Amino acid sequence: MATFPDWKEATHETVVHLSRLIQAQTVNPPGNELPAILIIKEILEREGFRSPQDFIIVESAPQRVNLIARLRGDASQRPLLLSGHVDVVPVEREKWSRDPFSGEVINGEVWGRGALDMKGFLAMYLQIFLQAHRTSLPLKRDLILAAIADEEAGFDHGSKFLVTHHRDLIDAEYGLTEGGAFTIPLGKIRLYAIQVAEKGVTWLKMTTKGKPGHGSLPQRDNAVLHLAKAIEQIRRADHLPVHITPTFRAMIAAAAKQARFPTSLLIRSLSLPVVVNLLLRFLDGQPKSILTALTTNTCTPTILQAGQKTNVIPAEAFAHLDCRRLPGQTPADVMREILTLTGDGVQLEQLDTSPGAAFPIDTPLYRLLEQETHKLDPDGIVIPMMMTGATDACVYREAGIIMYGFTPGRLPDGFPVLSLAHGHDERLPISFIESGLPTLWEVVRKFCVSE
Ligand SMILES: [Zn+2]
Repeated sequence: MATFPDWKEATHETVVHLSRLIQAQTVNPPGNELPAILIIKEILEREGFRSPQDFIIVESAPQRVNLIARLRGDASQRPLLLSGHVDVVPVEREKWSRDPFSGEVINGEVWGRGALDMKGFLAMYLQIFLQAHRTSLPLKRDLILAAIADEEAGFDHGSKFLVTHHRDLIDAEYGLTEGGAFTIPLGKIRLYAIQVAEKGVTWLKMTTKGKPGHGSLPQRDNAVLHLAKAIEQIRRADHLPVHITPTFRAMIAAAAKQARFPTSLLIRSLSLPVVVNLLLRFLDGQPKSILTALTTNTCTPTILQAGQKTNVIPAEAFAHLDCRRLPGQTPADVMREILTLTGDGVQLEQLDTSPGAAFPIDTPLYRLLEQETHKLDPDGIVIPMMMTGATDACVYREAGIIMYGFTPGRLPDGFPVLSLAHGHDERLPISFIESGLPTLWEVVRKFCVSE
């Protein structure tokens, strides 16, 4: 293969861009994505891109902006979208050992809020986009780069705004966004999980009613006691019923295929609900949380409210439940499962809901992602995975785009990636960028170039 692109040089450039993006403070809420978008605009303009023919900036509210750039192909196939959000979650400055917005490089790592989620990955997408432009890749499909707002607080100013008001700008057959194919250490195993599904959100308000009265005269018919009982019933059940989804089945099959006997047999047995139920009884801590999230609709009480005065028995008591649905499950299914535990004495009301998503994996792009991730780390295990939270992927799905969470790269052994995203001392090793750029490049080249 030709020596171009020079990945050392490309990595250096990505790091410079990432540091600048981290310095642009885009904490959401309130968002304020404009400074980061202006940096990307300047980088594109320096490279010869012009607005509006090559890129467009669309504003959803003051300071809330999205930039969409496009490299044109021969249109024989529909576009590939690379989408990254520029907003970041807030920081607790006093808990950081460095300035969270310095973008400094220390011991080979780029430090700052967003280094992982997801300015680092966006800087890599941008770099591949620039390389595709510089090498004049003969594209059979348009390559779209979207730097967008508001992923961390509800999508309204970013992906939702684009899907609703500017669908032509992001219309694509496939898209890549955050959340997959980086090293997750699992004991001695290095796992690479490509995100192919996301859980749906169902936020519920649970209400119990009772007889109001004076606190000095105790009574059984007390809304607070009814609520406490309902919550206790949820706690005692430990989890809602197990459902083995097609994504979970595919994940198990992929992991089993890459494992040795007898581990492979053990992994395969996870496709039986009875085995999952048994494991959930004996597991503890994070492994249990993860298995619960992967195989059940979850129900987490987060807010309790009742009463105003110590000596008054209130007529009503409330709890908020953060419930997450497996793909294929409806809000009504979740409510039915909860009522089975609590009985009909409680009322459930839907506060908010988002659809979740499950994307097909029998596609040429998924197979390519799998293949290139194996090349990135031949000894790693590559599996399709469901994300337990929600990203822009579930919003783009409404525009018919098949999205995968794919931000590939190899992390150094022991790098605590899962606790650093949204955590303190967020940072990204430069070696990750250097390992991931060629993988991303091969994916874009093989998927978008006419041969
Ligand atoms: Zn993110």
